[in-house]
Amino acid sequence: MPFEATDALATLVATTAVGRRRWLAKKASRGVVALACWSSGSLRVRNRVRRLRAITYHRFGDVPRDPFCMLPARFEAQMHWLAQEGLAVSLEQLDQFLQGADDVPDGGVLVTIDDGHRSLRTHALPVLERYGVPAVAFVTAGLVGNREASRAAAEPYLGWEELVEVAQRGVAIGSHSFHHRSLGALDAEAVRGEGQRSRELLEERLQRPVHSFAYPFGTRTDYDATTGRILGETGYRSVFTSQHGSIRRGANPLELPRVKVEAGEGLTMFRLLCRGGLDAWALVDGALWWLQQGRSETLAGD
Ligand SMILES: [Zn+2]
Repeated sequence: MPFEATDALATLVATTAVGRRRWLAKKASRGVVALACWSSGSLRVRNRVRRLRAITYHRFGDVPRDPFCMLPARFEAQMHWLAQEGLAVSLEQLDQFLQGADDVPDGGVLVTIDDGHRSLRTHALPVLERYGVPAVAFVTAGLVGNREASRAAAEPYLGWEELVEVAQRGVAIGSHSFHHRSLGALDAEAVRGEGQRSRELLEERLQRPVHSFAYPFGTRTDYDATTGRILGETGYRSVFTSQHGSIRRGANPLELPRVKVEAGEGLTMFRLLCRGGLDAWALVDGALWWLQQGRSETLAGD
């Protein structure tokens, strides 16, 4: 299958580990936000309204100070807790919740795993199966089985046979575009192509419908109302960003927030973020976006 995945190589990095100071600063700030939410009682107020949360993972393994690479034992403890609490919901249940269904667990959590790396199959899948936790994998169609892209990435991508196996063993598959480029930087036709081409290829290879999409990167510069509308037109029922927040009934299904689970944080932090302790991180997302806007305006003015 021909593709121009080499274009995407520039956007990939071989390692996502960060320096010690940045690692500690991020952990401290996430901890402070979660603790402040918990101690102020705002979680109780927040959870009075029925809502779900989608949580995001990327890779699984033991890489020091890599927020994108979750320790398998820690992932297992997290999935065990979700199962014990009866909080895990499927993509189908989330769709039903958005359409007004009442029988979806209040405060339910949808597990999402981005990028389609091999550790999804080797590390995450057995744990999901063990605890009966449903999940959705957002896969970059043009990178599946792509050896060249795998060499440049932090971890090899799944091949088609492996991805078919993951789907057959119960993980829902969504699209993470074709090339893993920022859709916010593309014109309308290219956005349509990323949505449509990836969906058609995934559906053809997996022999099952693909109705869900997660934006590559997913910051506020990577999508807008127009990209959401175009993805809706190309057949997606739900579209996820990487902005923090919870999903309320009546939310725009083409711009759904998620909550990022980071490596290096314990079960207490995980419980807090599943209960809304990091919903307020949306303010940090917003501030970063505002700073980026300021920077690009300055550059434009030069
Ligand atoms: Zn991604």
